[in-house]
Amino acid sequence: MIGCHCPVCRSDNPKNKRRRCSLYVQAGGKCLLFDTPPDLREQVLTFGVERVDAVFITHPHADHIFGFDDIRRFSDLQKSHIPVYGSSATVASMRSKFDYVDKPSHSFGGVPRVVFTEMIAPVEIGGARITPVPVIHGEEPVYGFLVEADGKRLAYIPDCSGIPETSFQWLDSLDVMILDGLRPGRHSTHFSIGECVEHLQRIGAERSFLTHLTHHSDHDTLQASLPAGIDVPQDGLTVYLK
Ligand SMILES: [Zn+2]
Ligand SMILES: [Zn+2]
Ligand SMILES: [Zn+2]
Repeated sequence: MIGCHCPVCRSDNPKNKRRRCSLYVQAGGKCLLFDTPPDLREQVLTFGVERVDAVFITHPHADHIFGFDDIRRFSDLQKSHIPVYGSSATVASMRSKFDYVDKPSHSFGGVPRVVFTEMIAPVEIGGARITPVPVIHGEEPVYGFLVEADGKRLAYIPDCSGIPETSFQWLDSLDVMILDGLRPGRHSTHFSIGECVEHLQRIGAERSFLTHLTHHSDHDTLQASLPAGIDVPQDGLTVYLK
């Protein structure tokens, strides 16, 4: 937290140094990126991400999209337009905030070359199937995503204060569930850690992770307080599903 000197902000445990939320999935022969946070460039350089075949945006809040311009490096490297998926509201917001990327061009440098695509149903990217999972984020409807490939199922819901009953159908038999667990105290637009754990227990994935954590949570202290099967991730955490 900028300007904060609390024990977590002063901690020298690298697990307490948290960048913004995002997820990179290699599945079905493709490389999928979920959200483009402001520190995306530093994240991909740190963790060696060299390819992005499709981008999925959960919602157009600043902490999830303002690294989007760096997608230009991937469209340039790959010499192709990269599909960017989101709800109609998300796509409208992305088009307006990044109005300079949508102009037709034959060259690939300079700006991201993308194809904004409204997503209301599952899409197939290579051997992966990605399904939008509608959830509530304060007053706003936003997306989480279910990724299915090679018989494995992972769901990612980074910003959420409520999951409609109709969306639990997508959260069944998961190998991995990643869910918003902002902080110990209640918040109007995010699950608290307690609410997150309750939902993770109902969902019952093989492995569960909290995300969107703040400086209210020391990594090791929080980890020690969680039930078995629910973990606190750290930046760069890699999970293999085989
Ligand atoms: Zn702090
Ligand atoms: Zn948000
Ligand atoms: Zn957020």
